[in-house]
Amino acid sequence: MKFSSALSLVAGLVAISEAAPSTSVVESRALPLVQSNQLRRVLLRSELLKKGQILEDFAYSWSGRNRLIGTIGHNKTVNYLYDTLVATGYYDVAFQKFLISTPINETFTVGNSSYETVAMAFSEAGKVTAPIVKVANLGCDAADFPDLTGKIALISRGSCTFVIKASFAEAAGALGTVIYNNVSPGVIAGSGEGDFGPVLSITLTDGQALVAKLATGATVIGTMNVDIDSITTYNVIAETKGGDHNNVLMLGAHTDSVEAGPGINDNGSGSIGILEVALQLTKFSVNNAVRFGWWSGEEEGLLGATYYVENLSAAESAKIRLYMNFDMIASPNFVYQIYDGDGSSFGTSGAPGSAELEHLWEAYFPTEAGLAFDSTAFDGRSDYGPFLDAGIPAGGLTSGADEVKTPEQQAIFGGTAGIILDPNYHTAQDTLKNLNVGVWVQMTKGIAHAVATYARSWEGFPTRVTKRDASVSTVYKPTRKGGLWIS
Ligand SMILES: [Zn+2]
Repeated sequence: MKFSSALSLVAGLVAISEAAPSTSVVESRALPLVQSNQLRRVLLRSELLKKGQILEDFAYSWSGRNRLIGTIGHNKTVNYLYDTLVATGYYDVAFQKFLISTPINETFTVGNSSYETVAMAFSEAGKVTAPIVKVANLGCDAADFPDLTGKIALISRGSCTFVIKASFAEAAGALGTVIYNNVSPGVIAGSGEGDFGPVLSITLTDGQALVAKLATGATVIGTMNVDIDSITTYNVIAETKGGDHNNVLMLGAHTDSVEAGPGINDNGSGSIGILEVALQLTKFSVNNAVRFGWWSGEEEGLLGATYYVENLSAAESAKIRLYMNFDMIASPNFVYQIYDGDGSSFGTSGAPGSAELEHLWEAYFPTEAGLAFDSTAFDGRSDYGPFLDAGIPAGGLTSGADEVKTPEQQAIFGGTAGIILDPNYHTAQDTLKNLNVGVWVQMTKGIAHAVATYARSWEGFPTRVTKRDASVSTVYKPTRKGGLWIS
């Protein structure tokens, strides 16, 4: 059935080219229809490495040594993607610009000591100098909080969200909240929404030292400072000129890193993986249009993907048959993970089609690639979240972030049980050297398989069930409220 519609499409192009000769029509007619094994065959490990190095060089081209949104490292990344895609002539390419407000220049000092700190994405601006008070337990219950009027709350990470902890602290009268990590090393920035004054994170070691000091009955005065700045940043969107634009396959990856490092596994690997598929796809024709999204602001709370989805009209949203996400696909202590789109392992399923995508890869990995796979929770922790919320079928592949490898996974995939899947997750060591390049190649081939399959045909794939605009994205909101996004 699809085959005959493909024939009629070609016939239509012939007729147009006879009526008005055009090089682009002649060229596109000459391209073979994309086929999984052919697309996979032209993907090269050397190209992934070369492009990964380019991103690392962008990070190291400035003193921050990262590709954080709003920095030269990130802007070079999006410019590179844009220019590379435009040069193919195969895609319509656009920047999607948006503004986000984000904490900057955060500091936490006690006496003369300046602490390593990072502001939660939802932190408000402000400067607070006040006595520090330790909150009981994990600060997940109002009963854990004494009267904190005029005080700074000190709370351990764990059990409930940073937003919940900060909201209880604020309700108890705290002027600001400091949350210390419950694992080493480092500080952790969480996303969310709320008006709770300055909210900072410090390390486990620093937190425990403060707790010990407070336990002696000493008064400890801390000073918190957070400034807020507006940052302009960009998504990059590229869509094949060819194919059916009413039945679009979409895939994406985030382009930004955290402040700590260059972000080459997270998520240079996904950004370059889909770029390489996009570049090799230009050797073929497609029946269905393929749209690529490179998202900004993922690390600050899925901001770019959320902005994109929330700015789709209902009619445009309905044209997206499927969204596929690739975030961290070269983890050193990897597991080949497929999002649990049918909910069989973790209980949360996506819109009709999410299960079919999962099953496509579950068939592909053992048979075509000869690889074991595992499923991973479909919890919206990356850029597919806003698509799921909008009722768009979704899924993806990931080789893992900060999940601890189980002994069962070690038995199947090798590596080291008891440590996280990317031990350099969100650190300065997330460099090209951090990557398992073999995994990167295999995951990129997995991307190519799905792209080739659905670019050829949606046969056997559920038709889109559309949601009303009003129900779009109720969960994934910008991390700060009050005019966060100005388009
Ligand atoms: Zn990521």
